[in-house]
Amino acid sequence: MTIIDVPTSGQIRSYQMFIDGEFVDAIDGQRYESVNPYTGTVWATVPDGSDADVERAVRAARTALDTGEWGALSGLERSRLMRRLAALITENAEALGTIESTDNGKLLRETRFQAEGLAGWLDYFAGVADKITGLTIPSDKPNFMIYTRREPIGVVGAITPWNSPLLLLMWKLAPALAAGCPVVVKPADQTSASTLDLAKLFVEAGFPRGAFNVVTGVGAECGKALVRQPMVDKIAFTGSTRSGIDVMKSAADNLTRVSLELGGKSPNIVFSDADLDAVQNGVIAGIFAASGQTCIAGSRLFVHDKVADELLERLTARAEAIVLGDPLDPATEMGPVALESQLARILEYIEIGSGEGANLVTGGTRPAGAHVGDGFFVTPTIFADVDNTMRIAREEIFGPVLSVLRFTDEEDLVRQANDSDFGLAAGIWTNDIRRAHRVAHRLHTGTVWINSYRAVSYAAPFGGVKQSGIGRENGADAIDEYLETKTIWVELSDQTRDPFRMA
Ligand code: NAD
Repeated sequence: MTIIDVPTSGQIRSYQMFIDGEFVDAIDGQRYESVNPYTGTVWATVPDGSDADVERAVRAARTALDTGEWGALSGLERSRLMRRLAALITENAEALGTIESTDNGKLLRETRFQAEGLAGWLDYFAGVADKITGLTIPSDKPNFMIYTRREPIGVVGAITPWNSPLLLLMWKLAPALAAGCPVVVKPADQTSASTLDLAKLFVEAGFPRGAFNVVTGVGAECGKALVRQPMVDKIAFTGSTRSGIDVMKSAADNLTRVSLELGGKSPNIVFSDADLDAVQNGVIAGIFAASGQTCIAGSRLFVHDKVADELLERLTARAEAIVLGDPLDPATEMGPVALESQLARILEYIEIGSGEGANLVTGGTRPAGAHVGDGFFVTPTIFADVDNTMRIAREEIFGPVLSVLRFTDEEDLVRQANDSDFGLAAGIWTNDIRRAHRVAHRLHTGTVWINSYRAVSYAAPFGGVKQSGIGRENGADAIDEYLETKTIWVELSDQTRDPFRMA
């Protein structure tokens, strides 16, 4: 059933938050504007919530769990609701994809594909929802029965970034709902629309009130309020490392659990025996897909000296042929970056790279012409002769900027690849099966792709080490992030025990 309308040009949409099963404005009535990064014009207005709105949403979630209909559902009932939601998302994927592309400038061919894939997360975790079991533990003491229950951890606060709002929400939402947790989402202010539209599908699917809530607001204030809220039991956060550190510090005040999916500076490693056609595609996918605005961007390209010149030539030619333009046009290969501030940051890093002595081989400018209009575009950029100590090799740029580094020795390569504050992902390109696994085992990252790049699945754990985060999303075990174990001891004898000795 089609519930969500595809946005039409010229129309300005007016959104409301979703709290306790109802669409509402911010308590103080404030609103803000959401800008389409391709046109640079306002396309939607969104409630600018405050602490009071966050409290209202968290209270609704708390009630839903403690005394409401949601907390009383069986696992099977939750899984049925999740499957219904999955089907509705699929039926509305075209609209959800178009909304995301309008909000953050990503290609429709990617956002629609992502929206169509969201159902997979719900269906997968729906299969887990009715199979959450505890243990019966053989007691080492006479006359006790001991068993455990795996209970929902409580109210979950989900905080998401602007680059893939629904996908990154689903990585939290599907296991949280399966576990029985109510969720309060705080999407990035620049891209709240798709999450607010998703709420309409929750209503249609028949979810009880308070199970899913969305609060919106300019800047980080609502996110901060959500983390501070003592009624929130767990924060599932995706965003920058700097914000993740703030979240963890603030969560510590209430000992709120956190999982953090943060930034990256991922090495994409090419050995001399690799298939360069496959490498070329993989490198382009790693750094220019989504205009480089992905946490897993393969932004540090390590190439064996023997093939470095040839690969650089091929990559330069392909980068210069990338079709820039309207993200809704199926012919476009790279859209604008999502925010004006992000554009400024990328251009600043390009200056930094040149200033550091890296060789700007291609790109590094704002393109002009009717196809890009006033959009926040930057041309696909490649720096050669990069040293791993340069800022463009160490700091996350979050844009279409590739740093190319050369190596000759495997040992030195592994040392340099691991010499990073981040540890999210890595790529290895080689036809030598022993070397592929040997190097994969030595890289300090949460994910390694061999002869591939930028693949994710609901079934495969994802997350970072070092400053790329804490915890894992996806994979059946991800449900553990949303469950707490309770141990129950039952006295079986009719006798009383010595009160002054621990049993
Ligand atoms: P951001 O950290 O600025 O914001 C992310 C979200 O957190 C937003 O909703 C924001 O309002 C909120 N927020 C910011 N500061 C907060 C605080 N102190 N307390 C609570 N909430 C706060 O990140 P961004 O610029 O929106 O997104 C880009 C970043 O996200 C990049 O660093 C990227 O690598 C990272 N990212 C990571 C993953 C991953 O899975 N590891 C995926 C996508 C993006």
